[in-house]
Amino acid sequence: MSLPFLVTPYYRRLADTHPALARQITPSPLEARTLPYETADPLADAAHSPLPRLVHRYPDRALILVTDRCAAYCRFCFRRHFTASGESSLTPGQEQAILAYLREHPEVEEVLLSGGDPLMLPDTRLAALLSGLRALRPGLVIRLGTRIPVVLPTRITARLARILAAARPLWVVTHFNHPAELTPEAHAAVEALLTCGLPVVNQTVLLRGVNDHEETLAALFRGLLRWGVKPYYLLQGDLAAGTSHFRTPLSHTFDLYDRLSSMLSGLALPVLAVDLPDGGGKVRLHRSSVVRTDETWYYLQGPDGGLYRYPREEHLYEREDDPS
Ligand SMILES: *Cc1c(COP(=O)(O)O)cnc(C)c1O
Repeated sequence: MSLPFLVTPYYRRLADTHPALARQITPSPLEARTLPYETADPLADAAHSPLPRLVHRYPDRALILVTDRCAAYCRFCFRRHFTASGESSLTPGQEQAILAYLREHPEVEEVLLSGGDPLMLPDTRLAALLSGLRALRPGLVIRLGTRIPVVLPTRITARLARILAAARPLWVVTHFNHPAELTPEAHAAVEALLTCGLPVVNQTVLLRGVNDHEETLAALFRGLLRWGVKPYYLLQGDLAAGTSHFRTPLSHTFDLYDRLSSMLSGLALPVLAVDLPDGGGKVRLHRSSVVRTDETWYYLQGPDGGLYRYPREEHLYEREDDPS
């Protein structure tokens, strides 16, 4: 099962002049390489899924897989077992079942809309889903993760921004990975959200050959800050099948993050995090999270006190040509 090639004309034009952008969307033969510790479902979504399309891993947060579609498919996608799988968008029956579940789980404070890209839904469907969620509890925080402002910024119309704003408290989480993605078009999209009163934060995936240099990341985070977007997470690559050519070894990641920390203000610096393999959950990454190492593994302390293995991949890094 491989991820299709799909990109918007807008992003393709950008990628024509920026190899770091082209690398994010151009299929590579290296995607056919699956390492023994890589899986189709590295976050173990399936093990925390009480209903189809609902992932309830943390008591106070639940994630809805709204649609399997994106406007462009990222070659490093960690949810590639679901993305573009043909499951399309939430059926009305699935939506009702999820709303009923959430009604019975008042401990859920935050609902995350993800996928795929939730902004692939038509405005009317999105508005209906949002009002269904808002009707549950007035204080429920909705978090919408999207790469649309990056790959299809004209989708963020004033009408769409008003639909989102009507469902506040709603946080938009964008996914900018490289300063070349900070175009006037993307800025207009972000500005449309902000002027409607929607807070915007960004998560970036650390990607070898794309953004694994401190100058690149510093320019990205400073640019976002200038737009009014708080860099939230810098994510170490997940162990998704066929994505090892995008991962940086953890030792490089720590060095890079140390340098970034000394360069950037607290507002500009995102939190370094990783989803622990085997369903260990998302944790902040510090050098001190590494309890011990051997030739093959880092042993990371999970929030439950358990030890989780994350591979040492220095040898991969040294062997492969840096495509950047
Ligand atoms: C990442 C994630 C969240 C949100 O985690 P935060 O640390 O609050 O950003 C919630 N649910 C699932 C299943 C996730 O993978």
